[in-house]
Amino acid sequence: MTALPTDAAPAAGANPQTLTQRMPATRDPRPNRPLRLKRSRPKRPSLRFSPTAWAKLLFLRDRGDTEVGGFGIAPRADVLRVDDIVTVCQQTTPVTVKFDDAAVADFFDQQIDAGRHPEQFGRIWIHTHPGDSAQPSSVDEATFDRVFGASDWAVMFILAKGGQVYARLRYNLGPGGSLRLSVRVDFTHPFPAAAPGDWEQEYQRHVHPERWDHFRPGDDPFLQFLEAPLATCDERLSDPDPFEEISSWIM
Ligand SMILES: [Zn+2]
Repeated sequence: MTALPTDAAPAAGANPQTLTQRMPATRDPRPNRPLRLKRSRPKRPSLRFSPTAWAKLLFLRDRGDTEVGGFGIAPRADVLRVDDIVTVCQQTTPVTVKFDDAAVADFFDQQIDAGRHPEQFGRIWIHTHPGDSAQPSSVDEATFDRVFGASDWAVMFILAKGGQVYARLRYNLGPGGSLRLSVRVDFTHPFPAAAPGDWEQEYQRHVHPERWDHFRPGDDPFLQFLEAPLATCDERLSDPDPFEEISSWIM
């Protein structure tokens, strides 16, 4: 009967040194198991809102039947944490929002005077949709490209009436790119009380729904809206291309 060779008994004449080298390390408890690298999916960065900022955004969204827009304000050490939302003078429809450029310039001045840096107030563009979909429209994309395309990074955030959210970070560093952000309300930092009285005043001061019956029947309402000069605002009014001037501010 022939004895079967076993791993434990090296064949006669085998070079012990070579054998030792081939042996797996004795400290490895599972020597025959292939090494498996843990590939955890990189965590998606999130855009976070303070409870107060979120409550204000819900108020603005539900106050009327049009879109409402504003800028997110964030601490310098955590620029994706929105502690406040500030509106500026704007003309709105159910499918568009158009900021007054002089009002935006004033807003930027005020923020700089308050000691903030542009990445704290000029990078997160927020607006609401009065419908169920938070998907950006072609007008939204064009605005995002035109106004924020030259800044090193920017976020477009949309909250729809139905609760759907859309958040996308675009960065122009290196080869550039964009990624979707998760969205959540962040309760881990102190936050002030809701102030619906102040929010109502701000809404009335800044948000000016466009009257659709001004449009000529048969014409494209989008084009008419975009070409129409801003007509209602208690702040300085300016030309019909509100974003042209501020583009230089937010780079
Ligand atoms: Zn939109």
